[in-house]
Amino acid sequence: MRDKIVAGNWKMNNDLAQTEDLLAKIKSLRSEKAGVRVIVAPSFTNLWHAFESLRETSVEVAAQNMNENENGAFTGEVSASMLTSVGVKSVILGHSERRAIYKETDELLAKKVDAAFNNDMEVIFCCGEELEDRKSENHYEVVKSQLEKGLFHISSDAWKNVVIAYEPVWAIGTGETASPEQAQEMHAFIRKTISEKFGAEIANDVSILYGGSVKPANAEEIFAKEDVDGGLIGGASLKAEDFLAIVAAI
Ligand code: PGA
Repeated sequence: MRDKIVAGNWKMNNDLAQTEDLLAKIKSLRSEKAGVRVIVAPSFTNLWHAFESLRETSVEVAAQNMNENENGAFTGEVSASMLTSVGVKSVILGHSERRAIYKETDELLAKKVDAAFNNDMEVIFCCGEELEDRKSENHYEVVKSQLEKGLFHISSDAWKNVVIAYEPVWAIGTGETASPEQAQEMHAFIRKTISEKFGAEIANDVSILYGGSVKPANAEEIFAKEDVDGGLIGGASLKAEDFLAIVAAI
């Protein structure tokens, strides 16, 4: 049985006081739900605080990015070992904002994936097509290529530390969501693509999250789809009530 997961990607939002406030609300409003992993991804500056604050709970903390090198002269960067030293065991890699704004290539992402595994971290690997790709019916090709180039070099054993997030770029922060059918189609395709290379058992065990304008009003119908194992939530994860309503919808 694969995990159901709801992860909140806070992006570049929430200073320390706002982080404290949001964590306190999540802690007070949240009711435990068996079999559902809940993850929050605050900014680097608030990771340690989030880890400490959530220590007594089952809510996990992830980073939104990291550098591919172990340590050294890389001004302004944060390494995997720095993250694990403050209790962070998961990292989001390949988010479309990292790919588009910071020009992160598939090759770079493959190195980041390796760095994460070398430090026993879990990778939440994002993929997803742009609007142009969907219009030209290239969306399956694009997602397959992102997976093959950024992730498929890993060993079969490493898959236990992988979560995939399918996030169509045209649905991120736009208010436009992929229909539950569009999400299901792509998730099934991703699972088939993994199965072809790594076998059905690994493909069936990997959690595939949907991301892109998930909110309390649409979460339930998206999560109801067979191959959708949860969500990566941006905007709606910044309000505890909305985030927890989405967790409750799974
Ligand atoms: P959104 O962002 O929920 O605000 O669309 C999702 C994401 O970027 O992970």
